[in-house]
Amino acid sequence: MPGFELFGEEEKKQVNDVLETGVLMRYGFDGMRNGQWKAKEFESALSKRMHTKYTQLVSSGTAALTVALASAGIGTGDEVIMPTFTFVASFESILALGAVPILVDVDATLTLNPAAVEKAITPRTKVVMPVHMCGSMANLKALKTICDTHNLLLLEDACQAIGGSFEGKPLGSYGDLGCFSFDFVKTITSGEGGAVVTNNEKYYTNADHYSDHGHDHVGKDRGAEEHPFLGYNYRISELHAAVGIAQLERLDSFLERQKQYYTIFREALATIPEIVFREVPEGGVENYSFLSFFLPTQELAENAHKALGTEGVDACFYWFHNNWHYYRKWEHLTNQTSLGKLPKEVQEQLPDYTKSDFSLSDKWVGRNISCLIKLSWTTEEVKERAQKMVKALNRVLE
Ligand SMILES: *Cc1c(COP(=O)(O)O)cnc(C)c1O
Repeated sequence: MPGFELFGEEEKKQVNDVLETGVLMRYGFDGMRNGQWKAKEFESALSKRMHTKYTQLVSSGTAALTVALASAGIGTGDEVIMPTFTFVASFESILALGAVPILVDVDATLTLNPAAVEKAITPRTKVVMPVHMCGSMANLKALKTICDTHNLLLLEDACQAIGGSFEGKPLGSYGDLGCFSFDFVKTITSGEGGAVVTNNEKYYTNADHYSDHGHDHVGKDRGAEEHPFLGYNYRISELHAAVGIAQLERLDSFLERQKQYYTIFREALATIPEIVFREVPEGGVENYSFLSFFLPTQELAENAHKALGTEGVDACFYWFHNNWHYYRKWEHLTNQTSLGKLPKEVQEQLPDYTKSDFSLSDKWVGRNISCLIKLSWTTEEVKERAQKMVKALNRVLE
């Protein structure tokens, strides 16, 4: 997955364009910038690639989620449905707005279980936020039907799945809003950075203003711009955007290589009858950044993960014990440990997750191993790794 593995002259050239103008800020300084508008250029390129009308670049994927929610008017006491298996940014962005993260089970897709989503809806629910973890997606069709029925927004966290698609639409463009991250471990990277994509003009305009202190960006003179509403600083810099332009141009070649390596691993592991692969919903195409599979039991999965390590197969993850990605280790959320007081709506509405029954999630995540696909490997190395994986897994399953 990591774009940081493949960097080259194009990235350097793009950054140099910016350094030569001396304008690192994405807005203003028109006279000094020598025609260089890297953030705007990256936004146009992303809109084109994602088949959306609008893209708003921001400073990170976490910022993208926060800005996306804010742009749709989400605030104090609103409930946002999110999965138990994700990255901590999901609840961080929700809580940043005073909204309430409602955790819901994942299924064999390792993303939101539509039936569990439906059960979690209350009169306060405003958003369903599927997170396309490890390169593959939720059943977006089922989730969209639920959202349409209950008048909810569908916000896709596509931070880990850029380049994948569902029913022919790029992931991130299927729902009302989509978010991407360009942090240092994502498929394409700009060091830090993120994006909100949408076809909704109102959300886009709101995101544009909100991510820059509420500036309306209509005047030529920044000092004279109005602030129609409160905002914050979630801007991306020209330097980061410049790197992003070069990386986006590489995206399709990255995807092609990931798919090639994924296929080698998958065909090797398919020879083991006990291994079941992660379910990809009908109509979905992964971005192939990980190969995820299930062992028959949690104990076997733990042993398999150890055996892979012993065999020298690194970069395989057992998420069940991970404290960034799985609800079991999110004590700071459960205990509401914050530096300041949380809004009283959050204190009152946040469920006590120590008492929640997420055994359906445990059933899948407890048996799952996800192996990262690295772009820097050679085909020979991938074949060797695949053999080692088969050997390690067979040893455990004997
Ligand atoms: C990386 C990531 C984010 C947040 O992105 P940052 O740019 O690191 O803030 C959000 N959601 C998921 C699923 C991620 O993997």
